[in-house]
Amino acid sequence: MKRRDFIGKLGLGAVAGSGLLASCTKPKTDCSNSEATANIETIHWKMVTTWPKNFPGLGTGAEFFAKTINELSGGRLQITVYGAGELVPAFEIFDFVSGGGAQLGHGSAYYWKGKSEAFQFFSTIPFGLTADEINAWMYHGGALELWREAYAPFGLIPMPCGNTTVQMAGWFNREINNIDDLKGLIMRIPGLGGEVLKRAGGTPVNLSGGELFTALQTGSIDATEWTGPYNDLAFGLYKAAKYYYYPGWHEPGTILECFVNKEAYEKLPDDLRAIVFNASRVANHNMQLEYIARNNQALKTLIDDHGVIVRRLPDDVLNELRRLADEVVAEIAGKDAFSRRVYESFLGFKKQVIAWQNISERAFLNTRQSS
Ligand code: CA
Repeated sequence: MKRRDFIGKLGLGAVAGSGLLASCTKPKTDCSNSEATANIETIHWKMVTTWPKNFPGLGTGAEFFAKTINELSGGRLQITVYGAGELVPAFEIFDFVSGGGAQLGHGSAYYWKGKSEAFQFFSTIPFGLTADEINAWMYHGGALELWREAYAPFGLIPMPCGNTTVQMAGWFNREINNIDDLKGLIMRIPGLGGEVLKRAGGTPVNLSGGELFTALQTGSIDATEWTGPYNDLAFGLYKAAKYYYYPGWHEPGTILECFVNKEAYEKLPDDLRAIVFNASRVANHNMQLEYIARNNQALKTLIDDHGVIVRRLPDDVLNELRRLADEVVAEIAGKDAFSRRVYESFLGFKKQVIAWQNISERAFLNTRQSS
């Protein structure tokens, strides 16, 4: 049976496949697309981001989200994406969208820890959850509701909109053989990982992605982390540092967020609201898969073509960092009642998801051949 005949038998007629035609009450043959869409208002939104325009994975992830909304809405909601600094500097997008300067922002919640330390839970937690696990906490473990509550006073609605998967520990010009090798190190490392480095005797700084290479090359920082091979290759960080350490203990599955200005969101009809939210879910998953698909290819280029030395952080160093991380994360719970609720939700979810992961993913990965 041809698709058209099948749709006809279901009695869906001209409505099938396009909500736009639902209001056409004339006989099917009179309901042309041009007539039906003539009365549809096109809404134009701006999206500001913390990434360089079209930067692989992150910037292209923001573009993918915008394009998906445009497509799913049949062009009714059109988003123009701006790279960092085009409309507003990277670390000002939160306030900009909150104030209505743009309708959408694309960044990561730990950049806004100055508003509340608890925001960092909605990016990533050192030694915390992987990409799949943090998404499970978000969509099925109560985290998204908590995150919405956190951003509500700023007139913003947050959504997960991408994930880097496990990052790399970063780029260094010296070997890290024991915890004392981190002492005195000035390193770009955001969020709670930065606080852990501070307690290990280092000095964390936060810089936006576009500033990293120059800072490392000129020696204003000694070391940096960014995301993983796919992104780090694109920034050319291998030209400014020799050792590339893993694993990314500080960012085991970092969520890239999108947030919407609440007033603008509430002006949308129900179907466009659903399209924005569901496009964020598609974009969230798509970015995660892109990193999984591309990271190893990029790592091979870094090693084979650029002579990068890849090293694993020693167990002693990781054990000490984990001890410090547990302290740092637990202290946030003591900041205020809301932070305690987020911490307890996170801890409870982590405990039960690890129990399952131990006999599923971890058990399987341990039995699989390593190459
Ligand atoms: Ca990072």
